[in-house]
Amino acid sequence: MRFEILTIFPGFFDGIFEYGIVRRARANGLVSVGVHDLRAFAHDAHRTVDDRPFGGGEGMVLKPEPLAEALASLGVGPRAANQPAEIVQSGTRVVLLSAQGRPLTQAIVRELATADRVVLICGRYEGVDERINEIYCDMELSIGDYVLSGGELAAAVVVDATMRIVPGVLGNAASHEFESFGLRDEDIFTASNEIPRSQHGAGGLLDYPHYTRPVEFGGLRTPDVLLSGDHGQIRKWRRQQQLQKTLRNRPDLLERAQLTDEERRLLESIRGSAG
Ligand code: SAM
Repeated sequence: MRFEILTIFPGFFDGIFEYGIVRRARANGLVSVGVHDLRAFAHDAHRTVDDRPFGGGEGMVLKPEPLAEALASLGVGPRAANQPAEIVQSGTRVVLLSAQGRPLTQAIVRELATADRVVLICGRYEGVDERINEIYCDMELSIGDYVLSGGELAAAVVVDATMRIVPGVLGNAASHEFESFGLRDEDIFTASNEIPRSQHGAGGLLDYPHYTRPVEFGGLRTPDVLLSGDHGQIRKWRRQQQLQKTLRNRPDLLERAQLTDEERRLLESIRGSAG
């Protein structure tokens, strides 16, 4: 899988993909990243990539021509006139990083990971001329409800989250299903034929808390159940912790989570004891 990043600050990415799983995935040839300097596609003496906004207002806007030329250099043309955004015909997804975009979720990450190539357009200043979004982009993505000064950090987030679930990158192919936001059964069924339906993921809940040596730290002891060797009880405790943590930190996820009747009863009793 390949990522292409379009930016006015290519040096921003020096070193950022040189660590851990991402470095290994690149070294193993499972993923690669190209970083492209937008200014190389501006042809005036000052290599101008921005201009004042029509209609007035603060700041500058990234001009469409250098971006269009940069995209063309990557073999990315305009979407066909009748092709709606979000429906992608080729193995390339073109993504505009934008505070106005759809929130990035693990479901979108999974969708991106099925592409052969993801092109990431980093905005700066007040943003990117909207026609780039309309003509070229398959999706507009936000990494959260806050405003960054540029799309570079957001692009790095998308690359990191996506490449770690590319098949072969994580040692255990299924391990990301068991993390926070892991698949629910119906996601497993539709997302990949390689993952057996019987293999339950995190079911849309947050991950459970993790402990390692020493057994006692800062006056707190590791929960006894984790030291018991009773794997049935450990599974049960972890699921309960997942429910508790999700209820506390992300109650919105519970609406779509895949819960058994017993888990629903457990959730009600956690709710009851919390209230
Ligand atoms: N005027 C824009 C607005 O209010 O939505 C903010 C522009 S921001 C200062 C400059 C660039 O940072 C954006 O074009 C986008 O590429 C990037 N950016 C800012 N916040 C982002 C977010 N939450 N997610 C993804 N990209 C973001």
